[in-house]
Amino acid sequence: MTLLIKNDKCLACGECAERCILDNIRVQTPPCRAACPVDLNPQQFVTLVALGRSHQAAEAIHDSVPFPRLLADLCPAPCQKSCTRRRVDQAVAIHALELYLVESFEPAADRFVLASDTGEQVAVVGAGPAGMTAAVRLRQAGHKVVLFEAQDQAGGGARDQVSPEMLAAEIGLLADLGVEQRLGKQIGASVDLAMLRRDFLAILLALGPEAQVDFAVREGAELDAEGRLKVDTKTMSTSLEGLFAAGQMLDGVDNQVAAMGSAQKAARYVDRYARGQSLELPRVLESEKILPVRVDAQRVNELRWQAAKGLLAASYVPPADGSLEEGDASLAAVPCLRCAQPVDYYDECWYCLPCEVECPTSALILEIPFLVK
Ligand code: SF4
Ligand code: SF4
Repeated sequence: MTLLIKNDKCLACGECAERCILDNIRVQTPPCRAACPVDLNPQQFVTLVALGRSHQAAEAIHDSVPFPRLLADLCPAPCQKSCTRRRVDQAVAIHALELYLVESFEPAADRFVLASDTGEQVAVVGAGPAGMTAAVRLRQAGHKVVLFEAQDQAGGGARDQVSPEMLAAEIGLLADLGVEQRLGKQIGASVDLAMLRRDFLAILLALGPEAQVDFAVREGAELDAEGRLKVDTKTMSTSLEGLFAAGQMLDGVDNQVAAMGSAQKAARYVDRYARGQSLELPRVLESEKILPVRVDAQRVNELRWQAAKGLLAASYVPPADGSLEEGDASLAAVPCLRCAQPVDYYDECWYCLPCEVECPTSALILEIPFLVK
């Protein structure tokens, strides 16, 4: 079997891998995506802009995170540090494109379809970007969600970093989706963990870097060597039944975007726990579908040679304030090298073609041997 991939069109979206009835195809993860704490796929949205499909590019971001404007404003863009094009001349202006998309296109009003009501009640403690993110994801999963916050408004540390108007607009989503907010409630003071454990099936702590966790220790939660809450980084669960943790209270989570990423992950496991499902399963499934792509030195040398000969689209430096106009967006998007693509992993094929038919950009062509035709 041979997959022919048109490099200028492949989004590394994985649709073909999902559709293959023999589970033969795997899609590589581009370095930009591998570096993103919230698992945005820059190859996807950058390529959609390059193809003149900016609206769909924005939708891809809106589908990936509940608070896209907050994310774009807070993001330190680790994707650009890992971008292959940076090793050739200049990183793709991924962050400027992300800002352009979230500012130019409103999320669809119906982008959140709530799963049917599970009848279970979960608590999220801490209403910074991480807690807000987890609250939305758990509400989407069909649980009743109560979000506790010590301050008298949500937003946490982001309140010092972004405009109050934008933050207020993003916070509005919580009420729109029916997340109950209990503000002015500090865990360990006006709310205690024993009460939460009695009233809620699962509790997710999403506290800041300076969080004191004595209240959890009193209930029997274990600490690690640094005196932080001991957390299984694969499932985000603590040693206490039904208690999970995310955000900057965890070791190694050192900015708001990494905190939001850890919250999205924790929400998946809290959901599984609340449904009585095993916490083991998704790890295997997730890792099975992902093939990291490594761009080696030889490939980088080839790319440098192509750039020197003018065979690569010219790289693009965004304005210092990071703002792009419509025409600039295309100039910024075209230089992406589209590092990742599908591969036929088991080399087995029935030539049934859903991979080719369902590819959103007609990037994939299956070469069918003459005898099969
Ligand atoms: S070939 Fe098409 S379906 Fe497969 S990853 Fe690329 S864009 Fe997606
Ligand atoms: S060149 Fe494109 S696909 Fe490759 S790392 Fe950079 S943005 Fe991602």
